[in-house]
Amino acid sequence: MGKKLLLKNAHIEGIRYFETYRKHGGYEAAEKALKMKPEEILEEVKTSGLRGRGGAGFPTGMKWSFLAKPEGVPRHLVVNADESEPGTFKDRYLMEFLPHLLIEGMLISSYTLGSNTSYIYIRGEYSWIPDILEEAIEEAKAAGFLGKNILGTGFDLEIYVQRGAGAYICGEETALLESLEGRRGNPRLKPPFPAVKGLWERPTVVNNVESIAAVVPIIEIGGAEYAKIGVGRSTGTKLISACGNINKPGVYEIDMTITVEEFIYSDEYCGGIPNGKKLKACIPGGSSVPIVPANLLLKTINGEPRYMNYESLADGGFATGTMMGSGGFIVLDEDQCVVNHTMTLARFYNHESCGQCTPCREGTGWMYKILKKIEKGEGKMEDIDLLWDIQRKIEGNTICPLGDAAAWPVAAAIRHFRDEFEWHVNNPELSQTQNYGIANY
Ligand code: NAD
Ligand code: SF4
Repeated sequence: MGKKLLLKNAHIEGIRYFETYRKHGGYEAAEKALKMKPEEILEEVKTSGLRGRGGAGFPTGMKWSFLAKPEGVPRHLVVNADESEPGTFKDRYLMEFLPHLLIEGMLISSYTLGSNTSYIYIRGEYSWIPDILEEAIEEAKAAGFLGKNILGTGFDLEIYVQRGAGAYICGEETALLESLEGRRGNPRLKPPFPAVKGLWERPTVVNNVESIAAVVPIIEIGGAEYAKIGVGRSTGTKLISACGNINKPGVYEIDMTITVEEFIYSDEYCGGIPNGKKLKACIPGGSSVPIVPANLLLKTINGEPRYMNYESLADGGFATGTMMGSGGFIVLDEDQCVVNHTMTLARFYNHESCGQCTPCREGTGWMYKILKKIEKGEGKMEDIDLLWDIQRKIEGNTICPLGDAAAWPVAAAIRHFRDEFEWHVNNPELSQTQNYGIANY
């Protein structure tokens, strides 16, 4: 049984409510933190090695230490709950079942950063969750953990929940800030980073829900103990939302020392693949990260087992590795068609592009059109090379990472599954009625 830090109390009935949460040790970390100096908490977070759980894996303590502190200018903490990456639903689970863990994490983090007004920006499709969060905020306020002069420390904190309107791009931190300010969610050029010029041009830390929740166990057990869990630079625990062709889809907390094979096949996690089917591929970090075929997923190029952590999943770079990303683990069995799957993703990115940059606005549309053509059996061999060429021209040439996120899945699919693209070109009639997976296994 892996170590549980975030979900250790998730099974307790009523843990969503303040009284039960408090009875099981809730807000004790906040009480401890409010007796510490902000610099001491920052040191604990740095020592813990916590890396941003939204997808980029940027060290949280380092991000906090970049926060500018100009005299007389308010600072803000903004929690990014715009969890929209296909295959990713771990933050939803945390907010729905453990809202006080997030609120407690926000209290500790806001105190550390000097934010008296903090926000949770939540995706519009999570329509039932803002009520849960707002109820938790009210409960925490009534108990003296939010509002004015919290626990007599002189520290004030208000938390507001802002609902998004359903755009994937608003999960990009600067688009999120634009949206929070009341404008269309167009990403800004970085630098300046939000830590220097964020919400209303004030210094702002934008952190993922899980990252902020993780601050609670870091204070509970101490940064050094937290850093002992996991391996290398993959410290602590990570939530993984698992879906696709597996027997037990759901949200799992792992300690990043288990292998990918164990995660897919053991009963503690995904419980294997239904109907005895073979594993074809997996996208381990949400739809933006490269798809990896089974042989490279279970082992690295050096023949070492591949582990569920930042370093091992990326081993070999984009040519053979992938990324931990947001922890949205999507499993494809042998019946799935990679061309069909890639086309679905291309349609998604094309629809979600904000349209500011030409390579992304035009390129995502072209990739979708070509993939649709190939998938329907109407493509030519040159189309596969054209597709490769287009994704190369998008990558690295856009304002925000959505361009890269649209390009990488296409690149990885062609790199690892070119035979499937060629099968569609060579079998136009079969392509109309069957997918590659079913026709070939
Ligand atoms: P990024 O690497 O550009 O930035 C990571 C964080 O570090 C940001 O908050 C940024 O402001 C900060 N940062 C980096 N350098 C800095 C500096 N020099 N000074 C101050 N701050 C600095 O990545 P990103 O654009 O935040 O995120 C991209 C990732 O988001 C992708 O890898 C993808 O996996 C993930 N993603 C997640 C979801 C989801 O639903 N969870 C959705 C889409 C994408
Ligand atoms: Fe908009 Fe795409 Fe450019 Fe990002 S990369 S700013 S989504 S057009």
